[in-house]
Amino acid sequence: MDFPAAARAVIDAGPVCDSCLGRVFADRSFGLSNADRGEGLRTAVAIADDEPYEGVAPADCWVCDGACGRFDEWAERAVDALGDPEFDTYQVGTRTPPLIEENDRLLREDAGLPDDAGELFKSNFNREVGKRIGRLTDTEVEFGRPDVQFTLDLDAGRVDTKLNSAFVYGRYRKLERGIPQTEWPCRECHGSGLQGSRPCEHCDGEGYLYPESVEELTAPIVEDVMGGTAATFHGAGRE
Ligand SMILES: [Zn+2]
Ligand SMILES: [Zn+2]
Ligand SMILES: [Zn+2]
Repeated sequence: MDFPAAARAVIDAGPVCDSCLGRVFADRSFGLSNADRGEGLRTAVAIADDEPYEGVAPADCWVCDGACGRFDEWAERAVDALGDPEFDTYQVGTRTPPLIEENDRLLREDAGLPDDAGELFKSNFNREVGKRIGRLTDTEVEFGRPDVQFTLDLDAGRVDTKLNSAFVYGRYRKLERGIPQTEWPCRECHGSGLQGSRPCEHCDGEGYLYPESVEELTAPIVEDVMGGTAATFHGAGRE
């Protein structure tokens, strides 16, 4: 099937929104959103056939069932779900409902195209919602190790957020003896400070053999200042 015929076949197979129509031909013409591409294809086919132009709203789309009309809504939901931590980079993933995945396959079958022609629903959804999250929060997409990972669960109507750890590097000079680098839990009471119900004699009920350590003097403070939930201290080098 040649190209305009393939677009026509997709249009004729059922009401399909501009994004879903455009996705099938996503490898044509760089620099367009799939919605722009779909609208253009629909226009071109209507003119070629001299038929009245009829747009299809996402809510009427048999493939995405309205999902492609809710990019803004999902971006706002993602930002709300995150709360208020500072971040610079993010990545978006989508849990696609099985019905949409199946429709995505049928959509291409109608046009006699391979299963994975163009761009799948999931990639388009990730990108369109991602662009909007970036605009709302003035942050950027990163695929390596983003500060924040958003997972859009379409069926559940929920956004899961995962904050990756922040790394803080520092150096110190130790000017007196008797302060170990890492916390040194008492081996008699395993750090609990108790032997049965009585204070541990070995550590005087402290749970630690030294009242202070570099770890104990730094990690909780960094955790507190950054609004974290846990901190892990890694020492390097010799004192
Ligand atoms: Zn659609
Ligand atoms: Zn002890
Ligand atoms: Zn470690």
